[in-house]
Amino acid sequence: MIKKNCVFFALMLCASLFSQVRIAIHEHRDYDEEQLKKLEQVKTLMENIINSEEFKNEILAMKVSEDNNPDHLTNQQIYDIIMKADEVAYPNSPYVIDLNLRMKPIPFYKPFTSVVGYTYPGINYIVTYRGKFNDCELYDLVSHYTHEWTHKLGFGHEDKKTWDFSVPYLVDDIVEKLGRKRVNGNQ
Ligand SMILES: [Zn+2]
Repeated sequence: MIKKNCVFFALMLCASLFSQVRIAIHEHRDYDEEQLKKLEQVKTLMENIINSEEFKNEILAMKVSEDNNPDHLTNQQIYDIIMKADEVAYPNSPYVIDLNLRMKPIPFYKPFTSVVGYTYPGINYIVTYRGKFNDCELYDLVSHYTHEWTHKLGFGHEDKKTWDFSVPYLVDDIVEKLGRKRVNGNQ
């Protein structure tokens, strides 16, 4: 009986290990020492959220609009793509969220931008504005990196009118909510 239980627990452990993702930061260009400390906290929080049961439940319950879901994916399929973490730029490293990060100043021509950073299809890195990084709460940064990273999985948002119902925006809302809960407690 004991033996049977051990096998069972070993199987459970394997199953949970394999369904977890971890984050690998391959590059953090122009992040200073203080910012790297904050980035480490962001990374821990982001891993904790994405690997949680709550995150799974929220993803399974979200409502992506049709125009933002050209491949008619089910929420389960979207969740599986996220958890497989197989980025277009890193096709051979499943279950690892591969991040290349670069810090840049807020552009002088838009000093009051609400944007934290950006990426676009032709580049394999995520740009974060220095002033925003320094001012943002940890959960805002989790939201920013997760949003941009889902673009690296191939999810997009075209029409501004329905942006809120695209995978990147819905997922960034979810991680922000769960992050806020973890940082501030249940308020
Ligand atoms: Zn976006």
